[in-house]
Amino acid sequence: MGDARVVLVTGGARGIGRGIAQSFLEAGHRVMVADLGTGADWQYSLSTSAELDATVQDLREMGEVHGTAVDVTSAESCRAAVAATVEAFGQLDILANNAGVVDTGPIDDFSEGQWDRIFDVNVKGIYLMTAAALPELRRSDDAAIVNTASIAGKMGVSNMSAYCGSKWAAIGITQSLALELAPDGIRVNALCPGIVGTAMWLDHLMAGEGEQAFEDRMKERVPLGRPQTPADMGDAAVYLATARNVTGVAHSVAGGMAP
Ligand code: NAD
Repeated sequence: MGDARVVLVTGGARGIGRGIAQSFLEAGHRVMVADLGTGADWQYSLSTSAELDATVQDLREMGEVHGTAVDVTSAESCRAAVAATVEAFGQLDILANNAGVVDTGPIDDFSEGQWDRIFDVNVKGIYLMTAAALPELRRSDDAAIVNTASIAGKMGVSNMSAYCGSKWAAIGITQSLALELAPDGIRVNALCPGIVGTAMWLDHLMAGEGEQAFEDRMKERVPLGRPQTPADMGDAAVYLATARNVTGVAHSVAGGMAP
Protein backbone atom coordinates (compact mmCIF):
# COMPACT_ATOMS: atom_id res chain seq x y z
CA MET A 1 0.00 0.00 0.00
CA GLY A 2 1.46 3.30 -1.15
CA ASP A 3 0.58 5.43 1.84
CA ALA A 4 1.16 2.74 4.50
CA ARG A 5 2.61 4.39 7.58
CA VAL A 6 4.50 3.12 10.57
CA VAL A 7 2.68 3.55 13.88
CA LEU A 8 4.07 3.20 17.40
CA VAL A 9 1.33 2.51 19.98
CA THR A 10 2.21 2.72 23.67
CA GLY A 11 0.11 0.68 26.09
CA GLY A 12 -0.67 -1.42 23.02
CA ALA A 13 -0.67 -4.89 24.58
CA ARG A 14 -4.31 -4.75 25.58
CA GLY A 15 -7.45 -2.68 25.93
CA ILE A 16 -7.75 0.53 23.96
CA GLY A 17 -4.12 0.38 22.75
CA ARG A 18 -4.68 -3.03 21.26
CA GLY A 19 -7.80 -1.71 19.52
CA ILE A 20 -5.74 1.16 18.10
CA ALA A 21 -3.05 -1.25 16.86
CA GLN A 22 -5.68 -3.48 15.25
CA SER A 23 -7.46 -0.64 13.45
CA PHE A 24 -4.20 0.70 12.00
CA LEU A 25 -3.30 -2.79 10.76
CA GLU A 26 -6.76 -3.23 9.24
CA ALA A 27 -6.26 0.09 7.45
CA GLY A 28 -3.05 -1.27 5.90
CA HIS A 29 -0.48 0.42 8.14
CA ARG A 30 2.44 -1.21 9.99
CA VAL A 31 2.51 -1.23 13.77
CA MET A 32 4.97 -1.41 16.66
CA VAL A 33 3.12 -2.47 19.81
CA ALA A 34 4.94 -1.09 22.85
CA ASP A 35 4.04 -1.86 26.44
CA LEU A 36 5.47 -2.15 29.91
CA GLY A 37 5.68 -5.94 30.13
CA THR A 38 6.22 -5.96 33.88
CA GLY A 39 2.80 -7.11 35.09
CA ALA A 40 1.53 -6.28 38.56
CA ASP A 41 3.04 -3.15 40.00
CA TRP A 42 0.04 -0.84 40.35
CA GLN A 43 -3.39 -0.96 42.01
CA TYR A 44 -4.33 -3.48 39.29
CA SER A 45 -2.05 -5.58 37.14
CA LEU A 46 -0.40 -3.80 34.20
CA SER A 47 0.56 -5.70 31.03
CA THR A 48 2.96 -8.62 31.28
CA SER A 49 5.53 -9.52 28.63
CA ALA A 50 3.44 -12.64 27.90
CA GLU A 51 0.41 -10.41 27.18
CA LEU A 52 2.53 -8.26 24.87
CA ASP A 53 3.88 -11.31 23.01
CA ALA A 54 0.39 -12.84 22.70
CA THR A 55 -1.05 -9.61 21.31
CA VAL A 56 1.70 -9.32 18.69
CA GLN A 57 1.15 -12.96 17.77
CA ASP A 58 -2.65 -12.49 17.46
CA LEU A 59 -2.34 -9.32 15.39
CA ARG A 60 0.17 -10.85 12.99
CA GLU A 61 -2.57 -12.31 10.82
CA MET A 62 -3.74 -8.75 10.08
CA GLY A 63 -0.47 -7.27 8.92
CA GLU A 64 3.10 -6.34 9.72
CA VAL A 65 3.47 -5.93 13.46
CA HIS A 66 6.27 -6.12 16.01
CA GLY A 67 6.44 -5.69 19.76
CA THR A 68 8.82 -3.94 22.12
CA ALA A 69 8.97 -3.18 25.82
CA VAL A 70 8.69 0.45 26.89
CA ASP A 71 8.30 2.34 30.12
CA VAL A 72 7.00 5.74 29.07
CA THR A 73 8.21 7.30 32.33
CA SER A 74 11.84 6.71 31.29
CA ALA A 75 13.44 8.90 28.61
CA GLU A 76 15.98 6.20 27.83
CA SER A 77 13.29 3.56 27.42
CA CYS A 78 11.27 5.87 25.11
CA ARG A 79 14.32 6.43 22.93
CA ALA A 80 14.94 2.68 22.81
CA ALA A 81 11.33 2.04 21.70
CA VAL A 82 11.70 4.55 18.87
CA ALA A 83 15.04 2.99 17.87
CA ALA A 84 13.44 -0.49 17.88
CA THR A 85 10.66 0.84 15.63
CA VAL A 86 13.08 2.34 13.14
CA GLU A 87 15.17 -0.81 13.20
CA ALA A 88 12.12 -2.98 12.47
CA PHE A 89 10.39 -0.76 9.88
CA GLY A 90 12.94 1.86 8.76
CA GLN A 91 10.75 4.82 9.77
CA LEU A 92 8.17 6.20 12.21
CA ASP A 93 5.22 8.30 11.02
CA ILE A 94 2.54 8.11 13.69
CA LEU A 95 2.92 8.11 17.48
CA ALA A 96 -0.07 6.96 19.55
CA ASN A 97 0.59 8.01 23.15
CA ASN A 98 -1.94 5.70 24.73
CA ALA A 99 -0.28 4.25 27.87
CA GLY A 100 -2.08 5.33 31.02
CA VAL A 101 -2.98 4.43 34.58
CA VAL A 102 -5.96 5.29 36.76
CA ASP A 103 -6.56 5.48 40.47
CA THR A 104 -9.34 6.98 42.56
CA GLY A 105 -9.76 8.27 46.07
CA PRO A 106 -10.41 11.35 48.15
CA ILE A 107 -7.67 13.97 47.85
CA ASP A 108 -6.73 13.74 51.54
CA ASP A 109 -6.41 9.98 51.32
CA PHE A 110 -4.36 9.97 48.12
CA SER A 111 -0.64 9.33 48.51
CA GLU A 112 2.05 11.37 46.82
CA GLY A 113 3.19 8.12 45.21
CA GLN A 114 -0.25 7.57 43.60
CA TRP A 115 -0.39 11.20 42.45
CA ASP A 116 3.12 11.16 40.99
CA ARG A 117 2.66 7.87 39.16
CA ILE A 118 -0.53 9.05 37.46
CA PHE A 119 1.17 12.23 36.28
CA ASP A 120 4.39 10.41 35.37
CA VAL A 121 2.63 7.96 33.04
CA ASN A 122 -0.31 10.03 31.75
CA VAL A 123 1.45 13.38 31.33
CA LYS A 124 5.23 13.09 31.47
CA GLY A 125 4.96 9.94 29.35
CA ILE A 126 3.50 12.02 26.49
CA TYR A 127 6.38 14.51 26.78
CA LEU A 128 9.09 11.84 26.88
CA MET A 129 7.68 9.72 24.04
CA THR A 130 7.03 12.77 21.87
CA ALA A 131 10.53 14.13 22.43
CA ALA A 132 12.02 10.73 21.60
CA ALA A 133 9.91 10.34 18.44
CA LEU A 134 10.18 13.86 17.05
CA PRO A 135 13.41 13.44 15.05
CA GLU A 136 11.81 10.52 13.18
CA LEU A 137 8.40 12.23 12.84
CA ARG A 138 10.12 15.26 11.33
CA ARG A 139 11.68 12.99 8.72
CA SER A 140 8.24 11.71 7.68
CA ASP A 141 6.31 13.53 4.96
CA ASP A 142 3.01 12.83 6.74
CA ALA A 143 3.38 12.57 10.50
CA ALA A 144 0.85 12.70 13.32
CA ILE A 145 0.53 12.19 17.05
CA VAL A 146 -2.63 10.89 18.74
CA ASN A 147 -2.77 11.23 22.52
CA THR A 148 -5.31 9.11 24.37
CA ALA A 149 -6.81 11.62 26.81
CA SER A 150 -10.35 11.02 28.17
CA ILE A 151 -13.68 12.71 28.69
CA ALA A 152 -12.19 13.06 32.20
CA GLY A 153 -10.04 15.71 30.50
CA LYS A 154 -13.16 17.75 29.76
CA MET A 155 -15.00 17.57 33.11
CA GLY A 156 -14.25 17.09 36.77
CA VAL A 157 -15.10 13.81 38.52
CA SER A 158 -15.31 13.45 42.28
CA ASN A 159 -12.46 11.41 43.80
CA MET A 160 -10.55 11.53 40.51
CA SER A 161 -8.66 14.81 40.72
CA ALA A 162 -5.31 13.24 39.84
CA TYR A 163 -6.66 11.29 36.87
CA CYS A 164 -8.81 14.19 35.61
CA GLY A 165 -5.95 16.62 36.10
CA SER A 166 -3.66 14.37 34.07
CA LYS A 167 -6.17 14.12 31.23
CA TRP A 168 -6.87 17.89 31.17
CA ALA A 169 -3.09 18.22 30.93
CA ALA A 170 -3.01 15.76 28.03
CA ILE A 171 -5.51 17.93 26.13
CA GLY A 172 -3.55 21.11 26.91
CA ILE A 173 -0.35 19.48 25.70
CA THR A 174 -2.16 18.33 22.54
CA GLN A 175 -3.43 21.82 21.73
CA SER A 176 0.00 23.36 22.37
CA LEU A 177 1.90 20.80 20.30
CA ALA A 178 -0.62 21.11 17.47
CA LEU A 179 0.38 24.77 17.13
CA GLU A 180 4.07 24.19 17.80
CA LEU A 181 4.46 21.36 15.31
CA ALA A 182 2.15 22.66 12.58
CA PRO A 183 5.08 24.30 10.75
CA ASP A 184 6.67 20.82 10.59
CA GLY A 185 3.46 19.43 9.10
CA ILE A 186 2.93 17.23 12.17
CA ARG A 187 -0.71 17.01 13.26
CA VAL A 188 -1.47 16.42 16.95
CA ASN A 189 -4.88 15.36 18.22
CA ALA A 190 -6.39 13.86 21.37
CA LEU A 191 -8.76 10.93 21.52
CA CYS A 192 -11.19 11.14 24.42
CA PRO A 193 -12.74 7.75 25.20
CA GLY A 194 -15.83 7.60 27.37
CA ILE A 195 -16.06 4.23 29.10
CA VAL A 196 -14.45 1.10 27.68
CA GLY A 197 -14.54 -2.23 29.52
CA THR A 198 -10.79 -2.65 29.95
CA ALA A 199 -8.65 -3.53 32.97
CA MET A 200 -9.10 0.02 34.24
CA TRP A 201 -12.81 -0.60 34.74
CA LEU A 202 -13.09 -4.35 35.18
CA ASP A 203 -10.01 -4.86 37.40
CA HIS A 204 -10.10 -1.59 39.28
CA LEU A 205 -12.97 0.91 39.10
CA MET A 206 -15.59 -1.90 39.21
CA ALA A 207 -13.29 -4.67 40.42
CA GLY A 208 -15.07 -7.91 41.32
CA GLU A 209 -18.46 -6.78 39.99
CA GLY A 210 -18.16 -8.61 36.66
CA GLU A 211 -18.88 -7.76 33.04
CA GLN A 212 -22.67 -7.98 33.33
CA ALA A 213 -22.74 -5.41 36.14
CA PHE A 214 -20.50 -3.20 34.00
CA GLU A 215 -22.84 -3.47 31.00
CA ASP A 216 -25.88 -2.78 33.23
CA ARG A 217 -24.23 0.30 34.77
CA MET A 218 -23.44 1.66 31.29
CA LYS A 219 -27.08 1.26 30.20
CA GLU A 220 -27.97 3.79 32.89
CA ARG A 221 -24.97 6.03 32.57
CA VAL A 222 -24.30 6.41 28.84
CA PRO A 223 -26.89 8.32 26.76
CA LEU A 224 -26.53 5.78 23.92
CA GLY A 225 -26.98 2.98 26.49
CA ARG A 226 -23.80 1.03 25.90
CA PRO A 227 -20.08 1.20 26.67
CA GLN A 228 -17.60 2.06 23.96
CA THR A 229 -15.22 -0.54 22.54
CA PRO A 230 -11.48 -0.73 21.74
CA ALA A 231 -12.51 -0.94 18.06
CA ASP A 232 -14.42 2.37 18.37
CA MET A 233 -11.23 3.93 19.73
CA GLY A 234 -9.06 2.37 17.04
CA ASP A 235 -11.28 3.68 14.25
CA ALA A 236 -11.21 7.18 15.76
CA ALA A 237 -7.42 7.06 16.20
CA VAL A 238 -6.94 6.14 12.53
CA TYR A 239 -9.19 9.04 11.54
CA LEU A 240 -7.38 11.52 13.80
CA ALA A 241 -3.97 10.39 12.55
CA THR A 242 -4.83 10.48 8.86
CA ALA A 243 -7.28 13.41 8.45
CA ARG A 244 -4.99 15.86 6.70
CA ASN A 245 -6.61 19.08 7.92
CA VAL A 246 -7.46 18.09 11.48
CA THR A 247 -5.12 19.15 14.29
CA GLY A 248 -5.49 20.29 17.88
CA VAL A 249 -8.86 18.65 18.49
CA ALA A 250 -9.94 16.61 21.51
CA HIS A 251 -12.34 14.17 19.91
CA SER A 252 -14.80 12.39 22.22
CA VAL A 253 -15.96 8.87 21.47
CA ALA A 254 -18.24 8.59 24.44
CA GLY A 255 -21.80 7.66 23.49
CA GLY A 256 -23.00 11.17 24.29
CA MET A 257 -21.39 11.49 27.75
CA ALA A 258 -19.37 14.55 26.76
CA PRO A 259 -19.20 16.89 23.76
P1 NAD B 1 -5.42 -0.79 30.25
O1 NAD B 1 -4.95 -0.79 31.65
O2 NAD B 1 -5.98 -2.03 29.69
O3 NAD B 1 -4.25 -0.31 29.27
C1 NAD B 1 -3.28 0.60 29.66
C2 NAD B 1 -1.95 0.08 29.16
O4 NAD B 1 -0.93 1.03 29.51
C3 NAD B 1 -1.57 -1.26 29.82
O5 NAD B 1 -1.28 -2.21 28.82
C4 NAD B 1 -0.38 -0.91 30.67
O6 NAD B 1 0.57 -1.96 30.80
C5 NAD B 1 0.20 0.28 29.92
N1 NAD B 1 1.08 1.09 30.77
C6 NAD B 1 0.87 1.53 32.03
N2 NAD B 1 1.94 2.17 32.49
C7 NAD B 1 2.86 2.17 31.50
C8 NAD B 1 4.18 2.68 31.36
N3 NAD B 1 4.79 3.33 32.37
N4 NAD B 1 4.82 2.49 30.19
C9 NAD B 1 4.23 1.81 29.16
N5 NAD B 1 2.99 1.30 29.24
C10 NAD B 1 2.31 1.48 30.39
O7 NAD B 1 -6.47 0.40 30.14
P2 NAD B 1 -7.13 1.13 28.87
O8 NAD B 1 -8.51 1.49 29.29
O9 NAD B 1 -6.91 0.37 27.63
O10 NAD B 1 -6.29 2.50 28.85
C11 NAD B 1 -5.67 3.01 27.69
C12 NAD B 1 -5.73 4.53 27.71
O11 NAD B 1 -7.10 4.94 27.60
C13 NAD B 1 -5.21 5.17 29.00
O12 NAD B 1 -4.48 6.35 28.69
C14 NAD B 1 -6.48 5.52 29.72
O13 NAD B 1 -6.29 6.58 30.67
C15 NAD B 1 -7.38 5.91 28.59
N6 NAD B 1 -8.83 5.89 28.85
C16 NAD B 1 -9.47 4.74 29.18
C17 NAD B 1 -10.83 4.77 29.39
C18 NAD B 1 -11.63 3.53 29.72
O14 NAD B 1 -12.83 3.64 29.96
N7 NAD B 1 -11.05 2.35 29.74
C19 NAD B 1 -11.54 5.98 29.29
C20 NAD B 1 -10.85 7.12 28.96
C21 NAD B 1 -9.49 7.07 28.73
